[in-house]
Amino acid sequence: MRIDVITIFPDYLAPLREALLGKAIDRGRIQVDVHDLRTWTHDVHKAVDDSPYGGGPGMVMKPQVWGEALDAVCGDEAPRLVVPTPAGRPFTQRDAVRWSAEPRLVFACGRYEGIDQRVIDDAAERMPVEEVSLGDYVLVGGEVAVLTMVEAVARLLPGVLGNPLSAEQDSFSDGLLEGPCYTRPEVWRGRPVPDVLRSGNHAAIDRWRRDRALERTWYRRPDLLAALPEGTLTARDREQ
Ligand code: SAM
Repeated sequence: MRIDVITIFPDYLAPLREALLGKAIDRGRIQVDVHDLRTWTHDVHKAVDDSPYGGGPGMVMKPQVWGEALDAVCGDEAPRLVVPTPAGRPFTQRDAVRWSAEPRLVFACGRYEGIDQRVIDDAAERMPVEEVSLGDYVLVGGEVAVLTMVEAVARLLPGVLGNPLSAEQDSFSDGLLEGPCYTRPEVWRGRPVPDVLRSGNHAAIDRWRRDRALERTWYRRPDLLAALPEGTLTARDREQ
């Protein structure tokens, strides 16, 4: 997969080269190119923003600069363009799974009050565009949102996680939150690991894990349970 990120703060994306993602880049599983938006400015101040039409506080990112940047980065291809914005629809694991099947993703990091809407409308005539939000809060810029989304996507790519089963059993993969997990020692500060996990009885362990996942989801995210497709929960699940 190829990932392009356009930003006025290229250094902000440096963590993409750390840890698992760094290894995935080194192994050629993903290619990440970070572009400085100011490359496409034409004035001495390298201005990327201007005051908003209609008045009001803050500045808006200029369409000319973004238009040239997207033309240059996307070329004749029509990659999926992702525009992080608090006014987008919520980004979820389902998006991460869907995007992980794409050959190429381009991320456009906004700053200030955001990007002139015509940039997004114009791009949408040539490529699929998604405006997505990380959550119901406002960040200073799109870079942190992009780091989050790229990490969620990249860990699903073949060969990135040491054990691909990890992703399959994570929260959201079956529509539920994952239950608690434990490692050695058996007792820590007087708190024992649940007996069943040391029993060697895999059917009982699976059942216990499923019950804890149902319980945790019920308490913390009842909206996820309500959204499960009809017939997902077995009669045994419902007893829980
Ligand atoms: N005026 C915008 C609004 O109220 O919807 C907020 C702009 S915000 C200060 C600047 C940039 O940060 C946005 O263009 C976007 O790239 C990014 N951003 C802020 N909050 C975000 C969120 N919850 N999800 C994704 N991106 C976000």
